[in-house]
Amino acid sequence: MSESYIAYHDGAWKPLPECTVPINTHALQYGTGCFEGIRGYWDGTRINLLFLREHFQRLARSAATLLMQAPSVDEMYAIACEVVRRNRPTQNIYLRPAVYKKGTGLGPVMVGVPDGYMCYMIALGDYLDTAKGLNVCVSSWRRLADSAIPTRTKALGGYLNSALAKSEAVLNGYDEAIFLNDRGQVCEGSAENIFIVRDGKLHTPDRTADILEGITRRSIIQLAQDLGIAVEERPIARTELYVADEIFLVGTGCQVSWVRAVDKRAVGNGKGSVTSRIQAAYEEAVYGRDAKRLSWLTPVV
Ligand code: PMP
Repeated sequence: MSESYIAYHDGAWKPLPECTVPINTHALQYGTGCFEGIRGYWDGTRINLLFLREHFQRLARSAATLLMQAPSVDEMYAIACEVVRRNRPTQNIYLRPAVYKKGTGLGPVMVGVPDGYMCYMIALGDYLDTAKGLNVCVSSWRRLADSAIPTRTKALGGYLNSALAKSEAVLNGYDEAIFLNDRGQVCEGSAENIFIVRDGKLHTPDRTADILEGITRRSIIQLAQDLGIAVEERPIARTELYVADEIFLVGTGCQVSWVRAVDKRAVGNGKGSVTSRIQAAYEEAVYGRDAKRLSWLTPVV
């Protein structure tokens, strides 16, 4: 049971249910925190944490942008490994580290409010179905603007935007939502970056499109280039989703998930060859079967 795993909370190691905060905690009242999601893959012998240092580098940048004080990257890295060591999982896992404002004062100000830090883990299989193909919609909710809540950070409060889009999608019978940004361009999923295939080439919104700069996104660009598939980062119009040959979503949680339909329009002819190649290459890498990608993994022993 995930609930009985040992977690790290502000200097102490305790079972997850005992890691509690007062109801007037700043982060709970105002969404003042930032977090990461990190996968650990069980290779039959040990857990390999994927892009561990990259996730903590992003968390440190999120915290700095949001005027919060994170522990050092090295410290967060060591705590994450220790969480895995203390729990000895023998299946795929997901780590959730977060920096949060743990003060209890009134008012949405960041300065002078003490920071806390947590890291816990859960067992996690597939987050979205990577085999069946996703039935997605374009959300009626726009992606929040980087100039409102920095989308380059994984800010706690920013996930209300994701939650609204995902909830609307689920209520309407879809698996996932695609955001447009406030310029009406394709942006990303509720917790995934998006790639489309047109004329054998991959296209994905560029880093000024109000996306989260996904770590999986970057690794997919690298894998595609190594497979000889061209990648273009550029603004993508909504109706390109309806004429794309293939579409897939990528992220720590969803890994590489292909999209079967957008707004009830079938995408191409089912799962396409570019998606299949990328999905296979990604899986080889994360399970440690691609010698060229072992640097992506931190084995916990
Ligand atoms: N966009 C959003 C809004 C997300 O929450 C996530 C998940 N972290 C992603 C994209 C994918 O990012 P990553 O590949 O770094 O997990």
